[in-house]
Amino acid sequence: MSRIVYVNGEYLPEEEAKVSVFDRGFLFADGVYEVTSVLGGKLIDFEGHKIRLQRSLDALDMSAPEAMDDLLEIHRELVARNEIVDGLVYLQVTRGAPSDRDFAFPGDDVKPTLVLFTQSKPGLAESPVAKVGIKVISIEDIRWGRRDIKTVQLLYPSMGKMMAKKAGADDAWMVEDGAVTEGTSNNAYIVKGNKIITRGLSNDILHGITRAAVLRFAREAQMEVEERDFSIAEAKEADEAFITSASTFVMPVVSVDGVELGDGKPGRVAPRLREIYLEESLKTAI
Ligand code: PMP
Repeated sequence: MSRIVYVNGEYLPEEEAKVSVFDRGFLFADGVYEVTSVLGGKLIDFEGHKIRLQRSLDALDMSAPEAMDDLLEIHRELVARNEIVDGLVYLQVTRGAPSDRDFAFPGDDVKPTLVLFTQSKPGLAESPVAKVGIKVISIEDIRWGRRDIKTVQLLYPSMGKMMAKKAGADDAWMVEDGAVTEGTSNNAYIVKGNKIITRGLSNDILHGITRAAVLRFAREAQMEVEERDFSIAEAKEADEAFITSASTFVMPVVSVDGVELGDGKPGRVAPRLREIYLEESLKTAI
């Protein structure tokens, strides 16, 4: 069975799903995206992702696609048509395809491009990696200044992942002015004693939907949360560390730049938060 993809109002087999070579997403990375996870055929935190999509569009003065009000229905239709039990729905909106390449934004006659596709990941929540944790390295954060907008400019994060791979690690934490901003595709946390420490929200990081939920659940469980900058030196001294994202949920980090945290195994807090996050977000999955 061919995967069914949504492109501008149509559900098409992936071989037939196409966008113009003049699409501004392709030529200028002039697009934004969202990734929503699917567990047991249901969407996790859908509303949060939709709200952030609107925020990204507004920040770039990009029109919302006509189908904005139908996004839930489109997500559900794709999940059903592709028989996704566990996996992801990827959504991308671009500023559309004008008739020629031009740095200036096109007029209102050019409609945004809307593409959605699914990725099947059976057993997503029972990831064996979460049992052993991941290793991260640190790299300099040389991205642009509006990382709070979820744009498709992902070349540097992609390079960061490759730097990590080359170093025998799984991911990279980016560092600016001595402080960790975030992971290549996730938010970063350390745990010291009973305190969960993560950088505060600003234009320097993506406002993770998983981050918001995890911090809320942590506070509800009477865990102490401190939103502040931390350095790689502090991370190396931490009791444990973890990352969050829509596709990894809460994932323990067991080493930073080759230095093992604690006994080099996932600690107490990250696995517990993963459990709580999965349990609570499944309750509101739609
Ligand atoms: N930071 C960056 C740079 C990301 O790419 C992502 C994932 N898209 C996140 C954080 C985590 O965000 P979320 O929890 O909404 O997936």
